[in-house]
Amino acid sequence: MSAGSDYQVLRSHLAFLRMGAAAEALPGLLDEAHTAKLSASAFLERLLAVEVAAVEERRRATLERFASLPSPFTLADFDFSAQPSVDEKLIGELGTLRFVEDATNVLFIGPPGVGKTMLAVGLGHAAVNAGMRVHYTTAATLAARCHRAALEGRWTATMRFYANPSLLIIDEVGYLPLPAEAAAALFQVVSQRYLKGSIVLTTNLGIASWGKVFNDDAMVAGAMLDRLLHRSVVVNINGDSYRMRSHRARAEAVRKAVGGS
Ligand code: ADP
Ligand code: MG
Repeated sequence: MSAGSDYQVLRSHLAFLRMGAAAEALPGLLDEAHTAKLSASAFLERLLAVEVAAVEERRRATLERFASLPSPFTLADFDFSAQPSVDEKLIGELGTLRFVEDATNVLFIGPPGVGKTMLAVGLGHAAVNAGMRVHYTTAATLAARCHRAALEGRWTATMRFYANPSLLIIDEVGYLPLPAEAAAALFQVVSQRYLKGSIVLTTNLGIASWGKVFNDDAMVAGAMLDRLLHRSVVVNINGDSYRMRSHRARAEAVRKAVGGS
């Protein structure tokens, strides 16, 4: 068989196996193998490495899409000096994602603007990069989705959807009081993940005020907190809003610029 037909057969094998990246890299790598006198195994290793990298990248992109993280922030973007109530070492420890492996929950509690969402999203990106299935939702979206699922007879599938990811981020619990039906949905999501998968939850309500989220249904609030807190890390953030802080800094700069004291 001629080198040309060898090449054609090899290409069609790669196409049949859907190894598109390897097929594309083939002519270049063959040239390289020829000039550098690569052994057969060294050549094969390079060819397969191209395909492995492409598959890994595709997998990461799929995980990224599924995660639906609302911003690109990573933990490295968080300015710890601006928020001294957040323990940098603890966040670094969470960043190792050991908490996901033992289904520990993380609660970020604090007023608006202090970086709760940013930290939750940072953990989300870290988990995606580690190859984990992550999904981000707000409490309101979760409630709306469950409501629709109930109407359309997709309740079981929707519960499975929220049970599935290694890490579920539920943002903004407590901003709006949840109607009883929504509270029940949230409760079921939390219950079925209990000891099986991690939840990172952010809330503006101190734990003592959780009854309010559930329209003063202390039973549901208590049962939910039992499950959430049983194996958990609670991060209380009490500081100025980062946004307000930068507004203030800008206002200060403007005042100085116009010659005020
Ligand atoms: P929260 O969810 O607590 O309301 P966010 O995480 O949405 O707050 O933060 C509000 C804004 O301020 C975002 O743009 C966020 O990136 C920024 N921010 C908050 N805290 C910090 C911080 N410590 N370092 C850098 N940016 C921050
Ligand atoms: Mg937020």
